[in-house]
Amino acid sequence: MNSFIDYIPHIIAPELLAQARVFIDSHHKFVITAHISPDGDAIGSVLGMKQYLEAKGKEATVVLNDAPGHNLSFIPGYRSDVIVYDNQNDGTPSQRDEAIRAIQQSDAMICLDFNAVTRMGGMKDLWMSHPAPKLLLDHHLAPEADQFDICISQPKLAATCELIYRFILELGDDHLLNKQIATSLFCGLMTDTGWFIFNSNRPDFHLIMARFMMEDVDRENIIKESQVIPERKLRLLGYLINQKLHIVREHKAAYMSLSLSECRRYGHQKGDSEGYVNEPLNIEGIQVSAFFREEKNFVKVSLRSKGEYPVNLIAEKFFNGGGHRNAAGGEFLGSLQQAEAIFVKVLPLFDKYLQ
Ligand code: 5GP
Ligand code: MN
Repeated sequence: MNSFIDYIPHIIAPELLAQARVFIDSHHKFVITAHISPDGDAIGSVLGMKQYLEAKGKEATVVLNDAPGHNLSFIPGYRSDVIVYDNQNDGTPSQRDEAIRAIQQSDAMICLDFNAVTRMGGMKDLWMSHPAPKLLLDHHLAPEADQFDICISQPKLAATCELIYRFILELGDDHLLNKQIATSLFCGLMTDTGWFIFNSNRPDFHLIMARFMMEDVDRENIIKESQVIPERKLRLLGYLINQKLHIVREHKAAYMSLSLSECRRYGHQKGDSEGYVNEPLNIEGIQVSAFFREEKNFVKVSLRSKGEYPVNLIAEKFFNGGGHRNAAGGEFLGSLQQAEAIFVKVLPLFDKYLQ
């Protein structure tokens, strides 16, 4: 049975895996988190890990700094199975007390899908000051390994959800996989690969997909559900592309910005503008795209690129952020106009990466 999974190479260093095994086996009350403004991989990861630990007979609670956007509602349990520490911005009462209790009562802590503790936002100090041992599973470059007791970092993988399946497999727990776990992990792999485009040529990626399908993951329906958007989101995208898209041909770049007053005009809700940054990359000859969205105290920056173009360097050096080579972001303390001007100004420095 399941012999095809023997073709999935084991990649976690044996000593790390041994430490992780002791970490899981010797604790009972787990608390799990992921990065602020959680995306599909963050939510799929925390839910998949929670469901795996529960299948092992453990107690596991997910605590997030802030609530996932409605764009992730296709992931079963995306709101009902998580406790949100910060204000939820959608009228639901704060779950801060519950979050604090879950953290303080835990005997083991798991961090997923981020490489720097600042990515926990306002929950960072509460989380880091709790003395329970901490395990990190992540696929971003350069993790802050010294902040965690065990750090399992695999930047070549498509998603943290891929790493979690491999973690389960390499611990010898593949038999615990069920439809719920496979569905959560499938959702994160889908979103972090841009619906199976990026980083998905590897045969083992497809073996993992096949393994998920054996648990009856409803691939077709999940993909369809994930494409459903509210009317306001399409109208806002239409407006942005029509009125706000700037092309800088000589540097193969494009950028758009969204102000707070435009957000209000279009009834923008959290998660609505997720993915807009990708749209200009479909334009012939465009290799780098930026999207700037004004928030109350800063500008949220999203960057995407094709090929060798390292947008993570732009995010790190100019926008207090980081990320992957082709998908990065940050928070800029200034105006939208300043953020745009900086982006345009630094483009020539990156011409050497253009194809
Ligand atoms: P997005 O543009 O979807 O918000 O973020 C894309 C990727 O960039 C994320 O997966 C994450 O790796 C990285 N990223 C986004 N915002 C930040 C940030 O504020 N700080 C850091 N370090 N990385 C970010
Ligand atoms: Mn990820």
